[in-house]
Amino acid sequence: MYQRREITTQERIAQNQYCEQIKGLIAARPHYALVDTYGCQQNESDSEILRGWLVQCGYELTDDADRADLVAVNTCAVREHAEKRVLGNVGALAHNKAKNPELIVCVGGCMTQQPTVREKIKNSYRVVDLVFGPHEVWQFPELLLATMERRGRRGNRSRLIAAEPSEGVVAEGLPRQRDGRVKAWLSIMNGCDNFCSYCVVPYVRGRERSRRPADVIAEARELIAAGYKDITLLGQNVNSYGKGLDEGVDFPDLLASIDAIPGDYILRFMTSHPKDATEKLFRVMADSEHCAHHIHLPLQSGSDRILKEMNRHYDRAKYLEKAALARQYMPDLVLTTDIIVGFPGETEVDFQDTLSLVEQVRFDAMFTFIFSPRPGTPAAGMPDPVTRAEKQVWFDELLDAANRISGEKHAAYVGRTFRVLVDGETGQTPYNLSARTKGGRLVHLAGDPSLVGRFMDVKITDSATWALFGELA
Ligand code: SAH
Ligand code: SF4
Repeated sequence: MYQRREITTQERIAQNQYCEQIKGLIAARPHYALVDTYGCQQNESDSEILRGWLVQCGYELTDDADRADLVAVNTCAVREHAEKRVLGNVGALAHNKAKNPELIVCVGGCMTQQPTVREKIKNSYRVVDLVFGPHEVWQFPELLLATMERRGRRGNRSRLIAAEPSEGVVAEGLPRQRDGRVKAWLSIMNGCDNFCSYCVVPYVRGRERSRRPADVIAEARELIAAGYKDITLLGQNVNSYGKGLDEGVDFPDLLASIDAIPGDYILRFMTSHPKDATEKLFRVMADSEHCAHHIHLPLQSGSDRILKEMNRHYDRAKYLEKAALARQYMPDLVLTTDIIVGFPGETEVDFQDTLSLVEQVRFDAMFTFIFSPRPGTPAAGMPDPVTRAEKQVWFDELLDAANRISGEKHAAYVGRTFRVLVDGETGQTPYNLSARTKGGRLVHLAGDPSLVGRFMDVKITDSATWALFGELA
């Protein structure tokens, strides 16, 4: 039976003590650590905590694997392609270890929660010293110290395979090394209860549990006070935020409370399951001062039959109704989506249903994937007679439609002026800066690097499929 469990202050303090012990062990010379992240924003957020721990343990961070004394790979299990890439890169670390036998290789993230992958790493990836799961990020120092002590005692061949399914954990007050100074992730919940039939997330990330609103709001305040200008609330399905808490706060309530914090910043969130996106949410977004008028609302398929097989709990009509309602509240809404092509049993008719819905809704951007069977999910056991080559033809057709529509949508920005947030340098000329509109569209422009972190008025001069180009107005 699933139990929500908040990590106690004592447990957290114990981790701080493990950090001090590790610091002592590596004090003789500078030690460097690299954290390599795959997959979604939730993983990026977890990697910020891993970096926070590593810094607290006395490591300096590096991007250079050749220099690293510790490499932590934060893995993704959503599609097989990512898994193969991760394992290839982990295997390649054997070269680094041959040069530096002291190198500690840690593998964390969603892949480690799959028994088959854990076995594979155990048997075939001897380079790995520590395997830990997404539920164990809060106790990384303890696991790292145990790994170091084992190696000390028994040489390089003793490894620690953790990754326990302790799925109800909520941990506050962990250290964090954020990636940038302008944009910040703010994780509001973890796990997923939806069990879409193709998806591995509920199995590897565990049951859905929300952070307490007071903790989320306090973190948002800290971020705004620290000067962050673009805050994204993260969860696998943010619209079911608050379930299981006694505060009686739902996601629109949380959004409104954060929006009430004064300051010049943009508030974003992802991801929204269409079945749980409510009129209340659209109203709060429309009325808010800071909320981006952007919803990422994964459609997955336009066929009612396939949506049912996917266990999505909405149909075409319902999706169209939600999209129309959201646009009614926010006529300038940017609507983006995810679509899976080639779900088991999908036919040409089903695919045409997806295509026609795409033409009807006209998404600003679409992320398209070919179905990837994930071990342990219901869809992996369904008959799947369509060949990969046939699926690729559908995929290419869908991608053409996606590119055409977003190109057309982007073209409509040309000649207009928008207030954008300059969020980074591109390292390219002449468009050396990147920026985002409030709706989240990428804008390239030329300007002084000191503009990073500032809101500027920019006139859009040109457009492409994936980006806009502009000049300071
Ligand atoms: N919680 C989010 C994101 C889940 S994973 C959501 O519900 O939208 C991100 C996307 O990956 C999904 O929206 C889906 O389009 C895609 N995806 C998930 N599992 C997949 C699979 N087995 N094969 C192909 N694409 C998949
Ligand atoms: Fe996966 Fe569905 Fe949960 Fe998204 S809502 S994480 S697709 S199970």
